[in-house]
Amino acid sequence: MPAAGNPAAIAMLRDVFTVTDRAWRGIGVISNSAWRLSDAYREFDAETRFAVGDIHTAESSVCRSGEVLQGLIKPHECAAFGHRCTPRTPLGATMVSAEGACAAYYLCRRLDQPNATAQAGAQPAREVARA
Ligand code: SF4
Repeated sequence: MPAAGNPAAIAMLRDVFTVTDRAWRGIGVISNSAWRLSDAYREFDAETRFAVGDIHTAESSVCRSGEVLQGLIKPHECAAFGHRCTPRTPLGATMVSAEGACAAYYLCRRLDQPNATAQAGAQPAREVARA
């Protein structure tokens, strides 16, 4: 494999995709940070086929997922972590899916305490995380 990569694969990517700006949850728009389907494949683009272009999502004003995603804070440093925001009541994208940083942090810290969820009056995850 040449250091410059696989020429056939690179040619295919350039044919199918075009670099574009993209708004990232919790971060905002980053220029040239994403790909979209190229004009040649525009008919397969969901943004073209369906009326999804005007859908805008807004995260909770207390959510700090952008800072979590950038490594500026750890999930438990968010005031909502483990209280207002849990995997059952997510306020931000990073708590929604199991592989999200906040959800993973929440679940792994909970698992550090084997009986934490089973005990009556178990500590909130935030307190467990600091233990
Ligand atoms: S704990 Fe919840 S509210 Fe806080 S940053 Fe993570 S997803 Fe957002």
